[in-house]
Amino acid sequence: TSSQAIPVEKIRYNDQGLVPAIVQDYLDGTVLMMAWMNRESLQKTLDTGETWFWSRSRQELWHKGATSGHLQHVRSLRYDCDSDTLLIGVEQVGDIACHTGERSCFHQVDGIKAAPPADTLSQVFEVICDRRDNPTPESYTCKLFKGGDNKILKKIGEEAAEVVMACKDDEKDAIASEAADLFYHTLVALAHHQVDVRDVYRKLQERRR
Ligand code: AMP
Ligand code: ZN
Ligand code: ZN
Ligand code: ZN
Repeated sequence: TSSQAIPVEKIRYNDQGLVPAIVQDYLDGTVLMMAWMNRESLQKTLDTGETWFWSRSRQELWHKGATSGHLQHVRSLRYDCDSDTLLIGVEQVGDIACHTGERSCFHQVDGIKAAPPADTLSQVFEVICDRRDNPTPESYTCKLFKGGDNKILKKIGEEAAEVVMACKDDEKDAIASEAADLFYHTLVALAHHQVDVRDVYRKLQERRR
């Protein structure tokens, strides 16, 4: 992110000189937190590549992570249609953005702890890991884990062949269906081998550069 990409003068600050900044994980889109920036903190964010905010309670510039160590490396920065809100994609150090120690400030629904919203693959992966760690006899996913690599890898081979067949027939609904099966079984293999789905996203992002 270069300073030229976001001219701090273009941003419309409110009558207190502040603009809301929504911070999300650059890999899976999880909304991590919301905080306020002023002109100076936005400039520091652009100059350092780490997030700086304005703390309204402490009335001071706040370098996110300065005390907790949970810095945020800026991967993308954009503003909305009328230039009064910022959206920042970050790599979150320690994977903790909230001062409570949770990954995201949005870690509850109606006061009950819940996974923060993320993309669909991550949500499915979350459920798969929960099945791995808290097995229930009825679950197909648990049966796959019980069968281990033998069962899981055989399924991946089968589903890959089904994707190939569906593509050969150009059956669009079948292609989507079989790709979903392949993704799901691949996520099970990741979980079985303790690899995070976000590590796969990281590889894909690295290849974009
Ligand atoms: P940190 O910036 O992570 O070193 O935390 C320093 C202080 O900033 C904390 O004690 C909180 O008061 C505040 N803080 C940190 N993270 C957040 C957050 N996500 N939302 C609101 N306040 C925060
Ligand atoms: Zn707006
Ligand atoms: Zn929080
Ligand atoms: Zn299938």
